[in-house]
Amino acid sequence: MKAEILSVGTELLLGDILNTNVQYIAKELAVLGIDVYYQTVVGDNNERLKGAYKLALERADIVITTGGLGPTKDDLTKEIATQFFNKKLVLHEKSLEEINKFFMAINRPISENNKKQAYFPEGCIILKNNNGTAPGCIIEDNNKIAILLPGPPKEMIPMFNEEVTPYLKKYTKCTLVSKVLRITGIGESNVDSLVGHIIDREKNPTVAPYAKDNEVILRLTAKAEKEEEAYNLIKPVEEEIRSILGDINIYAVGEKTIEDVVSEMLIKKLMSIATAESCTGGLLSGRLINYPGISKVFLEGAVTYSNEAKVKRLGVKEETLRNYGAVSRECAAEMAEGIARAAGTNIGISTTGIAGPDGGTAEKPVGLVYVGIYINGKVKTLKLNLTGNRQKVRDRAVAIVLDSLRRELLSL
Ligand code: ATP
Repeated sequence: MKAEILSVGTELLLGDILNTNVQYIAKELAVLGIDVYYQTVVGDNNERLKGAYKLALERADIVITTGGLGPTKDDLTKEIATQFFNKKLVLHEKSLEEINKFFMAINRPISENNKKQAYFPEGCIILKNNNGTAPGCIIEDNNKIAILLPGPPKEMIPMFNEEVTPYLKKYTKCTLVSKVLRITGIGESNVDSLVGHIIDREKNPTVAPYAKDNEVILRLTAKAEKEEEAYNLIKPVEEEIRSILGDINIYAVGEKTIEDVVSEMLIKKLMSIATAESCTGGLLSGRLINYPGISKVFLEGAVTYSNEAKVKRLGVKEETLRNYGAVSRECAAEMAEGIARAAGTNIGISTTGIAGPDGGTAEKPVGLVYVGIYINGKVKTLKLNLTGNRQKVRDRAVAIVLDSLRRELLSL
């Protein structure tokens, strides 16, 4: 199998951005044992893109494009690929639903142009985009394969890992194995500066980083004749990464979520828990309750949004609210202790903050969240300064709470 990578985007031609997608895909294809003879870069120009596409389809079995899947007029890749394969563009209802959901989550209306992203060449395989609006697709016809991926690396890389690699595995004779390390508490750029040299150095296994919902993922993929050999290739590289990042920051291996990890620890340690949430409004208890079996330890989740509820349900002192306000370290501590006392649990967790968009002041800006973590008689508080819209602030607060609780439980 021969593949050609076609990177679409005028900004690449102008040198405005580095073509990191091509490097990523080329490395992954090498692991899969798929030869790459040509890599082409072409601007967002109809005629030149057609020419490049025609040439690529003539000299390769698989043509992988990145970019040009967006909603604007100069996003042409899908239309051109559809023409070459003599297909019609048809509406894919499920993708339209997903795009609608994406815009609802970020509080923006969906435009006609965005709807264009839900049209696909008939009969193609759709590649879901969990990190943006443009789904990708795979078109198969006459022994040729076109794989269309979005341009932003944050969207392209997860799509490649989760959907394209499994699809291409049938074209490789070797055994491929992957191991996913899930990292939290250190940001993407930090991970990159700490282990970037390993990412650049390693060819087998390849080490692919990508950021996802408040975590960073490193996927190690090795190729060998036998599965065991492939795992043996991964082992020393994983050990090296662990020694640099620290086991404590690698919260899980594989498909586990942070709530799975925290819930398993609570159950193993027989620690009961209750939550009192203000700005996160039930998101934290919802995350914990995602875990089947959490009923063994999760006793109660209260959404105590008003000051009255904080006083009545949790026993927060009127004086605390008067002196420090509801968004304060003092209030968070009393909330956490109050819910643990009311529910009779070992652990009480609280959140109180300003999720925005309004309500911020110079002293207490939007994104300020206090967290209380009460465990067996001792209470700790955290002060978070978060960025993003209302939903992002709330999601980030919950992600940090879950990780902080994990770290507390590890030290018990
Ligand atoms: P969008 O929906 O964001 O418009 P798209 O699939 O149409 O996505 P482009 O518009 O071509 O993609 O590119 C969007 C952004 O993705 C670029 O501005 C750039 O930041 C990044 N990008 C595109 N191609 C590459 C590449 N080859 N390497 C690295 N980054 C890229």
